[in-house]
Amino acid sequence: MSRLVSPEGTALLIGGKLVPGGAGVFDTVDPATERVLGHAADADAADLDAAVAAARAAFDDTDWPRDPAFRARCLRQLRDALRGHLEELREITIAEAGAPRMLTGGPQLEAPIGDLGWFADLAESYCWDTDLGAARPMGVRSGRTLHREPIGVVGAITPWNFPHQINLAKLGPALAAGATVVLKPAPETPWCAAYIGAIIATETDIPAGVVDIVTSSDHGLGARLVEDPRVDMISFTGSTRTGRAVMASAAATVKKVFLELGGKSACIVLDDADIAAASRYAAFSVCVHAGQGCALTTRLLVPRAAHDEAVAAAAEAMAAVVPGDPNEAGTICGPLISERQRARVERYLDIARAEGGTVVTGGGRPAGRDRGYFVEPTLIAGLPNGSTVAQEEIFGPVLVVIPHDGDADAVRLANDSRYGLSGAVWGADPDRIRTVVRGLRIGTVGVNGGIWYSADAPFGGYKQSGIGRELGVAGFEEYLQTKLVATAE
Ligand code: NAD
Repeated sequence: MSRLVSPEGTALLIGGKLVPGGAGVFDTVDPATERVLGHAADADAADLDAAVAAARAAFDDTDWPRDPAFRARCLRQLRDALRGHLEELREITIAEAGAPRMLTGGPQLEAPIGDLGWFADLAESYCWDTDLGAARPMGVRSGRTLHREPIGVVGAITPWNFPHQINLAKLGPALAAGATVVLKPAPETPWCAAYIGAIIATETDIPAGVVDIVTSSDHGLGARLVEDPRVDMISFTGSTRTGRAVMASAAATVKKVFLELGGKSACIVLDDADIAAASRYAAFSVCVHAGQGCALTTRLLVPRAAHDEAVAAAAEAMAAVVPGDPNEAGTICGPLISERQRARVERYLDIARAEGGTVVTGGGRPAGRDRGYFVEPTLIAGLPNGSTVAQEEIFGPVLVVIPHDGDADAVRLANDSRYGLSGAVWGADPDRIRTVVRGLRIGTVGVNGGIWYSADAPFGGYKQSGIGRELGVAGFEEYLQTKLVATAE
C-alpha cells in the first residue's frame, strides 16, 4: 500500500522516533468490506508516559515555544510533505475511514492539509505582544504589556469520522501557537494518524517530541492522557458522553479543556423558501459520509402546511442515494465505521418505530451488500421534536422531519435540544432570516446553502456541543495563555 503504512504495521511517534507499540499491534478494518487492512502499533501506558515526557521536554527545553518563524516554516514543510503523499493518504482514508473518494478532495483530506498554511501565516502575522500603555492602579504609574504565550503540552484526542480534518485542525493551530502535542487518535483510524507521524519524523524539521502520536486499541489511554499532570490542556473531539468524562477528569489537575462534541442540528425551512429544493438539499446532505458528521442537519423543520410536500421531496432525494463503495467516484454515502455503529443506528430506527414514527424511505440495509457496515438513507416522519430520534445523536444517514408553526416556533424547536452545534436556514426574506438566525443558540449557521467550513472560520458549539472553537483566530487562541507584565515607571 505504501512505504510508510504497510500491512505489517505502523509505528508510534515518540520523541522523534518511530517505535513499535508496547502492547503489540491491533487490526485496522475496511468498513466497506469488513476486511482487515493490516495492523497498527498498539501503545500501552508506558508508551503514553514516554510520549508525554517527550512533549513536555520539547516544550520546556527547546526554543520551539519562542520561535514562530521556525514553526511557520515547519508547518509549511509538513503541508508540502503531506501533499507529496496525497494519493497514498487518499487511499488510506478511503480504506480505513470508509470516506467517499469525492470528500477527500475537500474536508476529508486536501482542505485540512492546505489549512496548515493558513496557520503558518498566522504564526507569523499574529500580534504576540500588545502595549496596553501606562495606567496608575493604586497610584503606581505602570507600563503594561500583554504577552500571548503557548499553553504548553496539549493532549489531543480525536474521533474517526473525519480523521485528517480533526487531527490537523488540532495540530495546525497548536503547533502554530508554539504548543507541543500528544495525539491519541481513535482506534478505528490509526493509520491516518500514524502516516502523518511517519512523515513528520522522516520529512520535516519538526523537533523531536514536538508531536508525539500514540495509536491504541485502548480508550483508556485517552483517559490516562487527560489525567496526566504534565499535560496543560486537552483538545478533545468526540461524543458528548466522552467529553463529559474528559471534563470531569481534567478537573483533578485543573487543566483547560477544549471540547468539540455531538450535535442534533436543525435545518429550518421558512414558508417563503423553495420548500422542495430545501428539503432535497437537507435530505441529500444527511447522506454524505453515511451521516457521520457532527454538524450535519439531522432534523428538518418545515412549515406545517408544506409538511407533505417536504416529506415527498426529501424521500425522493434520499431514495436516490444508493450507499456504495467509497472508492467509486460517484459515491457520497459509504459505510458506517463499524458493526457497533451500525447496530447503534439500527437500534434508533427500532426506537423510532416503537415511538410511532413512520419510516418513509429506507430503514434497512441496502440490497446486494452483504459485506460492509451499510445502512439505507432513512427518512422518519410523524414524530414530535421530543421523540428519542429527534433528541439524540444517531450518527447515521437518518433525517427526522418535524412540522413547525411559523418562524418563532421553528426557532423554539431548533433550540429545544441539549445540543447547539450547527444549523441551516432557508428562506427568501433577509429580515426574517436574520431574526431566525439571531434566535438560534448554535455555533454555525448556513443560510440558503451557504458553507461555513474554512480555515479562517471558527467552528464549535453552544450548550452540550462543546466548549471553545476550532479553526480561525479563535481556534488558534485556544492554545495560548495570556501574561500581563506591569512595569513601574
Ligand atoms: P468517542 O467519544 O467515543 O471517542 C472519541 C475519542 O475519545 C477516541 O479517540 C476515544 O478513544 C477517546 N476516548 C474514549 N473514552 C475516553 C475517555 N474516557 N477519556 C479520554 N478519551 C476517551 O467518539 P467517536 O465515536 O470516536 O466519534 C463520534 C462522536 O464524535 C460523535 O458524537 C460526533 O458528534 C463527535 N464529533 C464531534 C465533532 C465536532 O467537531 N463537534 C467532530 C467530529 C465528531
